[in-house]
Amino acid sequence: MFNRLSLKLTALYAGLLVAALLLVGATSYALIASASLRIAHEQLTVANANFARLNNLRLAHLAEAAARSAGAPGVREALIDQSAAPTALGALRTRLRADRAFIVTAEGLLIGEDGAAQASVPPQLQLALGRHASPVGLLALDGTMHRVAVATLGEHAHLGWLVLADRLDPNTLAAGVSPEGAHVSIEIRARDGGWGAPEAPDRAAISAFIDTYLARGQAEPFEAQGARMIGAAMELATLDAQRAALLVRSPLSQALSPYTGVFNSLALIGLVGLIILVVGAWLFARGITQPLSTLEASARNLRQGVYEPVVVRTKDELSRLAASFNAMIDAIREREQRITHLAYHDAETRLPNRLALERRLATAQAGRVYLAAIGVDRFADVRGAIGYAHAGALMQRLGARLGRLAPNGPMARLSSDVLGIAFVAENEDAARRRAEALISHLEQPLALEGLEIDVNVSIGVAQPRGKDEGPAAMIERATIALDQARAARLKSAFFDEAAYGDPARNLSLMGEMRRALKNGDMRLVHQPKYNFRTGRIESVESLVRWRHPTRGFIAPDLFVPMAEETGHVRMLTEWVLERAVAEQKIMAQAGWPLGFSVNISGRLLDDAGFAEAALAIARGAAQTLCFEITETAVIDNPKQALENIERFAESGVRVAIDDYGSGLSSLAYLKQMPAHELKIDKMFVQNITSSERDGLLVRSTIELGHGLGMEVTAEGVETPAAFAMLASMRCDMAQGYLISRPSTAEDLIALLNDRQRMRFYEQTARVGAQISPTPESKSA
Ligand code: C2E
Ligand code: CA
Ligand code: CA
Repeated sequence: MFNRLSLKLTALYAGLLVAALLLVGATSYALIASASLRIAHEQLTVANANFARLNNLRLAHLAEAAARSAGAPGVREALIDQSAAPTALGALRTRLRADRAFIVTAEGLLIGEDGAAQASVPPQLQLALGRHASPVGLLALDGTMHRVAVATLGEHAHLGWLVLADRLDPNTLAAGVSPEGAHVSIEIRARDGGWGAPEAPDRAAISAFIDTYLARGQAEPFEAQGARMIGAAMELATLDAQRAALLVRSPLSQALSPYTGVFNSLALIGLVGLIILVVGAWLFARGITQPLSTLEASARNLRQGVYEPVVVRTKDELSRLAASFNAMIDAIREREQRITHLAYHDAETRLPNRLALERRLATAQAGRVYLAAIGVDRFADVRGAIGYAHAGALMQRLGARLGRLAPNGPMARLSSDVLGIAFVAENEDAARRRAEALISHLEQPLALEGLEIDVNVSIGVAQPRGKDEGPAAMIERATIALDQARAARLKSAFFDEAAYGDPARNLSLMGEMRRALKNGDMRLVHQPKYNFRTGRIESVESLVRWRHPTRGFIAPDLFVPMAEETGHVRMLTEWVLERAVAEQKIMAQAGWPLGFSVNISGRLLDDAGFAEAALAIARGAAQTLCFEITETAVIDNPKQALENIERFAESGVRVAIDDYGSGLSSLAYLKQMPAHELKIDKMFVQNITSSERDGLLVRSTIELGHGLGMEVTAEGVETPAAFAMLASMRCDMAQGYLISRPSTAEDLIALLNDRQRMRFYEQTARVGAQISPTPESKSA
């Protein structure tokens, strides 16, 4: 409830004031009450004293009157003649203003105003007469207290007594006794077990009070007739042995009544003060807490990234705090802007970075948005030539050009040599045209520090794919498309899903390949090569086969390049080599000592560790081994590769140049390679009978090989016509489905033992050599 400062302060002040008021109130009440009690007591004591004085006066008056009247003739007459008694006693009573007048005879008879002599005198009176000669004092007669004065009749009262008595009327007792202004009640109580008659109300409380008062001269207020009472008591002497007391009392409230006005105004003042204080404290507290609340709200906003300055109108610490707070907000905002700028921009060129592009793409309307990754060709070379600083400037200028070409298109520097730009196109054709336009604009020569620089770029384009794909994945696709374009030697290419495959799945495939090498899922098959000169099969090429337990046959064209890229190819190649050597032995034991060719991935050529291992295996071979090498662009260290190839050649391993004509094969390559064999790619061989051009190429390649001292093998020989033609061209060996598909060692033995088939090849070769003699072959 008190989670607000203003409430807390108000409650605290109000609480303090109430406490102070209560203290003042209680103290003044106690002081006033005790003072008024003292006064009341004094008044009661005065009343007591008054009564005593009045009582004594009246008693003296009565006694003197009784003594005087005792000798009066009327009394004596009444003593003798009782019939005269009423008149005489009545006159006497009236004159003396007494309540009763009667005679007690010496015999103990009572003669009253009714004249009759009564037999009994009240026992208390009798007691008093026995104790005093002429008693004067208080005495209870017929249950009511009286002032009594007795005079003797005759010498030593031998005639009797004259008794005068005043009834003490409770109703008139107070008159003339109460002090000025005091309203007190006075009563006389006889001690009769308790003070007063047993049936009298509040007897117990009153008795206790009187007893205490008589013993100590004071007593605490008591409860009577439903009110608090204060009082004073005085013991009265009676003529008989009975005790009596005078009780003077008045209600406490009456004693305090003069002060109720004071108390009421005190309470009113307190209440008004309290209201003023609560309102004042509330306003004061709000003056403090409102700016604090504003500050708090601003801090909360700040946490949510809303930078709203605080307005505090006071001129005190709070306003200074608010000013500091506002300064802090400004500083944070500025710093955040700086950090955000840094986070979304490339430090070198100040172009937006990949993260910025991702952000723009995330908010872009999905649908027809294409993303182009533009790579600067041979960037490393360019950078080497012009230096890092200028290379950065180059990228920046290209970025600026891109920005001008598509002012609203999100663009970014994706990596050191790649820029990215998103654009909208109706369809793929339009996107392709757009990419080509980008290329022609970006490839305009660029002036840097007075130097004109030619820039070549390639572009990979990622097609829109819908909402499921995040911006990061789209950027990745564009950069992969760029790689794909470069690999295919194209200026631009769209992302090709099929060519890219599934990298995650491929990686798991490599794990499975390791297992296949151990568990027999991987096998070797061998494809024979027919030697035209000897008319025999003297060598085979070993090819790997993988039968996957769930995916079935997996082509080497798929997993061999994958093994190359993931670093698994050495393991595979060493396994193939070992198997080939082992199966070569089996064939030799079966009576067919053949040369075995094994494919060696270009990636392994500059690997010294592999060369060692390969040579060690080769040393265990019974017959000739041949390493088929395809020229690849991905040899990191060509010098080392050449050295290794030379080592192979020196240690008796034949070296064959594989797939000649399909790739980058150059004359320089042929010149450098210490090869024994040249294998013409099947792409040419398959068409030699249909394409004059291919025939010409094959023929001249055979002659080139012979000229360099190499044996020439034609791959992909599928028809007898091609076979015959190759024979006529003086090709050394033929390899292809016509002779045999790659097959197991057993099948191979069966083929080798097939005399009829061998004869067929021989004849075909002879026919070819005869029917198609060429001028070149003649001259050779
Ligand atoms: P390659 O070295 O050029 O192997 C010859 C390929 O041509 C083999 O395909 C073979 O089956 C196929 N071929 C043979 N004769 C004919 C024919 O008359 N017509 C046609 N159309 N094709 C024919 P394969 O076995 O699928 O191998 C494909 C490629 O995989 C090989 O090309 C080779 O580069 C690679 N490869 C195969 N085994 C290995 C290996 O053990 N190690 C390495 N590094 N690469 C291998
Ligand atoms: Ca080969
Ligand atoms: Ca080949």
